[in-house]
Amino acid sequence: HGEFNQKIDYVFKVVLIGDSAVGKSQLLARFSRNEFSLDSKATVGVEFQTRTLNIDHKTIKAQIWDTAGQERYRAVTSAYYRGAVGAMLVYDMTKRQSFDHVVRWLEELRGHADKNIVVMLIGNKSDLSTLRAVPSEDAKEFAQQENLFFMETSALESTNVETAFLTVLTEIYRVIS
Ligand code: GDP
Ligand code: MG
Repeated sequence: HGEFNQKIDYVFKVVLIGDSAVGKSQLLARFSRNEFSLDSKATVGVEFQTRTLNIDHKTIKAQIWDTAGQERYRAVTSAYYRGAVGAMLVYDMTKRQSFDHVVRWLEELRGHADKNIVVMLIGNKSDLSTLRAVPSEDAKEFAQQENLFFMETSALESTNVETAFLTVLTEIYRVIS
């Protein structure tokens, strides 16, 4: 079986951060297993999923970390950020508060992670466009100011999920190679 014989050239640790219920676990399920669940339980325990892919003829194992449902208590530990070369900072585009909190998440990230970390701001749940509470322009402007990538996604409809992760992984590869 190909996967067992595959030589891994790089392992990239990427962390998911952002408020509870914005869709972090479902984005991860979509990217790593092409699955989605409408009634996902709060994640228990820090865990990660991996997916192996090729970038520029190199085999890259993406190790994507999901929070332990600790978002509410701001108890994400420094171990979570340790060694991360990428971050997906997720808000729910139907929940203004989750976007307002992005500033705090970014502070927390910059306090813990390597300064060269590649960060993608993600407005998730784009399928619920009639309930939009965050204009794209606001997020785009913020991302530009803070030097982040930005994309709106839907884990449910599988919109831009692959592109968002691949953009971050490709940029990480570009930075380190
Ligand atoms: P987390 O707490 O950030 O990990 O959020 P979850 O991944 O557990 O998702 C919270 C809720 O939002 C669940 O009911 C998901 O099914 C739902 N959800 C996640 N992503 C989407 C999406 O893209 N569209 C819609 N409509 N619901 C989503
Ligand atoms: Mg979760």
